Amino acid sequence: MNTRRLFFGIGLPDTLQQAIIRWRADVFPAEAGRPIAAANLHLTLAFLGEVSDEKAAALRRLAGRIQQPAFHLRLDDAGHWPRAGVVWLGARQAPRGLLQLAEMLRSQAARSGCYQSPQPFHPHITLLRNATKPIALPPRNFQWQCEVNHFALYQSVFEQGRTSYAELARWPLTL
Ligand code: ATP
Ligand code: MG
Repeated sequence: MNTRRLFFGIGLPDTLQQAIIRWRADVFPAEAGRPIAAANLHLTLAFLGEVSDEKAAALRRLAGRIQQPAFHLRLDDAGHWPRAGVVWLGARQAPRGLLQLAEMLRSQAARSGCYQSPQPFHPHITLLRNATKPIALPPRNFQWQCEVNHFALYQSVFEQGRTSYAELARWPLTL
């Protein structure tokens, strides 16, 4: 059976990805952790794991029925999960639209038999990995904003020692 490693997520505009990595280089020392490539900066809405093509087609049909308005994402928070080794960027106040969208996709995934973490959804954009040592977080004087008017299904591909994400489909948020 053919399977692919999939997740629903929100990609960031190129200009925002570039702005974030410039800031990251200024505020985190190289030894803080492994920086995620600009093109890989994203926010995961629902992780699906290894999914058969058949199940993926069903999940795509369900995703296509979601009707939700676009929302505004303000990235004004950063944090460190030392056990996971993750330094992240997020929102002090997650937009309702984001939480609703993730909730819908996660419940569709669960009902379709995809494993869903029992942990609550913590919307975040991973900036650094392997960040297990204590680090000083930068002052929260940064802020980026973007309008989120679509979400997408991504395939995570690990090839030649690198992970990249291929967008397989996208859906507008246009209620
Ligand atoms: P890599 O694991 O190759 O270093 P990655 O973590 O970005 O890179 P994936 O493991 O394929 O690639 O994960 C894709 C997305 O799904 C990432 O945002 C990741 O944080 C998230 N993710 C991965 N595994 C889980 C999981 N078990 N539960 C929730 N989210 C997950
Ligand atoms: Mg991973």
